[in-house]
Amino acid sequence: MIMVSLRCINCQTEFPTSSRIYTCSHCNGLLDVVYETSGISGERLMDVWDGRRGSPKTIDQSGVWRFRELLPEADESEIVTMIEGNTQIWDAPRSAEYAGIDRLTFKHLGMNPTGSFKDLGMTTGITQARRMGANSVACASTGNTSASMAAYAARAGIRAFVFIPSGQISLGKLSQALDYGATILQIDGDFDDAMRLVREVANESPLYLLNSVNPFRLEGQKTIAFEMLQQRNWQLPDRIVVPGGNLGNSSAIAKGLHELLERGVIEKMPKITIVQAEGANPLYQLWKKYRGREGDTDLKIEPVAGAFTLATAIKIGSPVSWPKAIRGLRWSDGEVEEVSEQEIADAKAMIGRDGMGCEPASAVTLAGIRKMAAAGSIRPDEDLVAILTGHVLKDPDYTVNYHSGTLSYTDKSRERVAIESRYGNEFIRLPAEREAIIEALVFR
Ligand SMILES: *Cc1c(COP(=O)(O)O)cnc(C)c1O
Ligand SMILES: [Zn+2]
Repeated sequence: MIMVSLRCINCQTEFPTSSRIYTCSHCNGLLDVVYETSGISGERLMDVWDGRRGSPKTIDQSGVWRFRELLPEADESEIVTMIEGNTQIWDAPRSAEYAGIDRLTFKHLGMNPTGSFKDLGMTTGITQARRMGANSVACASTGNTSASMAAYAARAGIRAFVFIPSGQISLGKLSQALDYGATILQIDGDFDDAMRLVREVANESPLYLLNSVNPFRLEGQKTIAFEMLQQRNWQLPDRIVVPGGNLGNSSAIAKGLHELLERGVIEKMPKITIVQAEGANPLYQLWKKYRGREGDTDLKIEPVAGAFTLATAIKIGSPVSWPKAIRGLRWSDGEVEEVSEQEIADAKAMIGRDGMGCEPASAVTLAGIRKMAAAGSIRPDEDLVAILTGHVLKDPDYTVNYHSGTLSYTDKSRERVAIESRYGNEFIRLPAEREAIIEALVFR
């Protein structure tokens, strides 16, 4: 029998999983889903989980629900799944060379049903919404959360309300939420405004909140760590590199690994390395202060006002899950890095040349690895897994602009800054004549 409850990470107060709360009702701290799994050994967990690979059952095929011994309880009939997960780990030789290391692998979570890792959290989030009897769900989103929530809500027959910052989400993501039938509320403000408002509204209405402050979402996302290890035959990498926006995903991966550590499935934690964009780097700034002051409880994140990056999925100045992210870094002796817009753009092009591609936010991983390898904080022979969070088709404007040399942004002092297309791949315009085409090809 597995006992599951919600526990405040701050004051440790426990609440039943049936409580409709998103933070601690005493101290407002973030909540964890916690499990008392006495009697199930790590060996046994690995056996059960491995035995489900190749099973014809839908919940065994899901890369989330396959690991259900460490997930909130749910009846098979209540589970809303799109058989998410099962995403590839690919070797990336050109990216490795670019970063100056021997070998690099990417686990590509953009290969999920709606094209981002958010699906892993939505299958558990929407399942919980259904268990709570919610008939409408809501989120603030930079795009992928809304696309994913809209799809899973549609599957469950639940209404979806999406709060998006005006003009700041990519068309690809917006089009998904529209197609899956969500109601879209475009807020005049940035993501941090939309986030604050949806939390306020959810507290005063029947809307069930599905941002990553919801601990049930992070439970699904932690299976990234489980599946990655299972695919590697339970062999630990030295390091896992992940982009940081609202910091839910890095926190979820850390929690998953920590649960495996507690149960003896693994013997130590791989170093969690979180990479942020320079213009949206509140964790990076906090981390610089935090190092060496581990016992200090007064440290608080300083929001970045007017957070900026063209990688819209991580354009977040006030990340909700920062205390959990710090906890994960502490557990794993992790690190935080920041990278520039130019570095992100070039790294994204390099991941494209490896034949996989990704959306801009995902490329901070390679940019960060390259920077850390150059500084000597990543050894060339490390066993690395970097997490690609979103699909290359999510933000085609960015990609086409980069390759045609027209990608640019406005910096803090309102100057226009052009991104250099160092690895650009401009298309060739030709008259509709055979000779002209042959001539153009000969010179390639
Ligand atoms: C949501 C998202 C992120 C950021 O994840 P957090 O959990 O908010 O830190 C990064 N990349 C992509 C593609 C995303 O959709
Ligand atoms: Zn508390």
